[in-house]
Amino acid sequence: MSPTYDVIVIGLGGMGSAAAHHLSARGARVLGLEKFGPVHHHGSSHGGSRITRQSYFEDPAYVPLLLRAYELYDRLEQDTGREIATLCGGVMLGRPDSRPVSGSLLSAERWGLPHEMLDAKEIRRRFPTLTPRADEVALYEARAGLVRPENTVAAHLQLATRDGADLHFEEPMTRWEPYRDGVRVHTAEDTYTAGQLVICPGAWAPRLLTDLGVAFSIERQVMYWFQPTGGVRPFLPENHPIYIWEDAQGVQVYGFPSIDGPELGAKVAFFRKGTPCTPETIERTVHDDEVAAMADQVGRLIPSLPGRFLKAATCMYSNTPDEHFVIARHPAHPEAVTVAAGFSGHGFKFVPVVGEIVADLALDGTTGHPIDLFDPSRLTAAPA
Ligand SMILES: Cc1cc2nc3c(=O)[nH]c(=O)nc-3n(C[C@H](O)[C@H](O)[C@H](O)COP(=O)(O)OP(=O)(O)OC[C@H]3O[C@@H](n4cnc5c(N)ncnc54)[C@H](O)[C@@H]3O)c2cc1C
Repeated sequence: MSPTYDVIVIGLGGMGSAAAHHLSARGARVLGLEKFGPVHHHGSSHGGSRITRQSYFEDPAYVPLLLRAYELYDRLEQDTGREIATLCGGVMLGRPDSRPVSGSLLSAERWGLPHEMLDAKEIRRRFPTLTPRADEVALYEARAGLVRPENTVAAHLQLATRDGADLHFEEPMTRWEPYRDGVRVHTAEDTYTAGQLVICPGAWAPRLLTDLGVAFSIERQVMYWFQPTGGVRPFLPENHPIYIWEDAQGVQVYGFPSIDGPELGAKVAFFRKGTPCTPETIERTVHDDEVAAMADQVGRLIPSLPGRFLKAATCMYSNTPDEHFVIARHPAHPEAVTVAAGFSGHGFKFVPVVGEIVADLALDGTTGHPIDLFDPSRLTAAPA
């Protein structure tokens, strides 16, 4: 008896929804299983906005993937008519040797990406809300901006459904096992068989990928919305870039123009200053001292932003030890299982290209995209 599906995708968040789209667009019979409803707020792909940029300070190896992600985001907007990307420009700010500045410059120069270097005076002139210190500089990238996570996930789910994928929500996988030449997947409702399994578990990686041997650590992160003193006009995307700022102590803050309407002000957050958590135990309440610390830190760069605190929301990072992704055929099940996990707080801008890579791996066993950096063997104990 042949399996019911060609591919079963576990998790229909950012990465899994993109995988379901790319797989079904290539004609595969796809089943997607998701623990929660469509476009939910319990994982890592919510909160209205995600930064996107090309001069990538984390490693120049990401740049070709970003160029492809930009093309695919464009196509996603055209194919669905949804508003997804706003390229309002971006400043990576700090002292010249800070990672956002020096790393972004390295990627820009290595790949010949358009950029400008601004000194503190020029930053203040071009972007009057920003008040950098005299020894701070910025790399400005006109092609940086933001993408909308909820619209992205909804768009991928829409296209997957259009192309015939079966998407089951509120139906978590309870377990799976190798079966004949493929896999058998169990839920409380049913059992399904497929030739290939794709696991995109987000913050559930420690539970769903135990046999991968990667030490994922899950972190609680908070997003804050403030009403700027004097209103949102200077913060509208036509006036305001996205920004990532590292101070002299190495603390990183990032933020967005005001895109959610005047009543929602503008969003800001700490980059990588989370606390360990699990999806079951994460503290969803945001406390006054956290709000005060955020207002204090961002107020040093943008004094007018923390006028009035409006709201906050929590989200989870799934970190790998080196903060690079894991995208590969599962080393313990290389014939039938593909994994995409450990996006370490910087994965969303890659969502469509990850969907494309995962479809390559599941259907062809290999991909033309450069993904050596994401091989899990770099993180697992070396054999004796
Ligand atoms: C506060 C915050 C800010 C961020 N800012 C940026 C940014 O500016 N730029 C950027 O590029 N990235 C950013 N990121 C990172 C980016 O959002 C994530 O890397 C990305 O959303 C991860 O997608 P995912 O598919 O791995 O996880 P998710 O979208 O959480 O998807 C995992 C899915 O698996 C499902 N699932 C779990 N267990 C099961 C099961 N047993 N059966 C079925 N389904 C299951 C979950 O319900 C969930 O839907 C940020 C993240 C956070 C939290």
